[in-house]
Amino acid sequence: MDYRGLFEDVTRAVQPALAGGRVAQYIPALASVDPSRFGLAIAELNHRSKPHGTGDWLEPFSIQSLSKVFTLALVLAADGDTLWTRVGKEPSGAPFNSLAQLEREHGIPRNPFVNAGALVVTDRLLTLTGDARGALRDFLRTESGNPRIDFDAEVAFSESRHGHRNAALAHLLADHGRLDNPVPDVLDHYFWQCSLAMNCRDLARAAGFLARHGLRADATRLLTRSEAKRINAVMLIGGTYDAAGEFAHRVGLPAKSGVGGGIIAVIPGRCTVCTWGPALDHHGNSTAGITALDTLTTLTGWSIF
Ligand code: GLU
Repeated sequence: MDYRGLFEDVTRAVQPALAGGRVAQYIPALASVDPSRFGLAIAELNHRSKPHGTGDWLEPFSIQSLSKVFTLALVLAADGDTLWTRVGKEPSGAPFNSLAQLEREHGIPRNPFVNAGALVVTDRLLTLTGDARGALRDFLRTESGNPRIDFDAEVAFSESRHGHRNAALAHLLADHGRLDNPVPDVLDHYFWQCSLAMNCRDLARAAGFLARHGLRADATRLLTRSEAKRINAVMLIGGTYDAAGEFAHRVGLPAKSGVGGGIIAVIPGRCTVCTWGPALDHHGNSTAGITALDTLTTLTGWSIF
């Protein structure tokens, strides 16, 4: 594979996209990030082979909702399919932080990637481990091979001070009897999990178990094949906010995006890709990331379709 040529083509294609979009404003600590940054990393299945990358691929950024993929995997690994009684697996068709949808549907979140669904998953991880955010950080350190991965306290406090909508979602869930732990504890672990700072290389490596059909970096099994398939399926239908249809149309891969500008995409049986471009479109997806992945699948034929 000629990665150098591929990276040049992708980098050229994203230049116009870097000028569009807007950095997330609703978490003040994220609003000051330079919108012109762009990085891309590809990690192949064999954990020992070195990841490939370009641009700002080694620059840490706020993982935000990318964390939801990993908390989901940790809970599925422990609970198996019983999780799906507490959270759905359908596209949301609504903003990721919609209170109205959660109320209409009696406190069962549409899927684990809308914020309400992620709060339910974090609540469960907290019950299972006693320290949801610590369990997540340790898992990411192990899978990426980078023991220095850590939280960004400024981002966590910033979101905690301004996270009124997440607090409202958590209280609504509690009112419907959907949380086992106190609301402040669930919110605290959720804000800290979102604040983790990682680069494209480490994220691509950490997500490798999704391309390896559930096998961790050390080849032990985290998820069954069908559980790994389920996470990829939910990423496809709900990983890129309420633009998952458009994303499937353009890119054709299971993916999860975050308002820090990261996108993780999975090519099962081949590799994982992580892109970072902080400017977002009106759905909350990175403009550069979508263009990069669109170009990448067009040039390589790596779409799952
Ligand atoms: N921490 C952010 C929130 O809960 C994550 C949003 C996202 O990346 O989708 O609003």
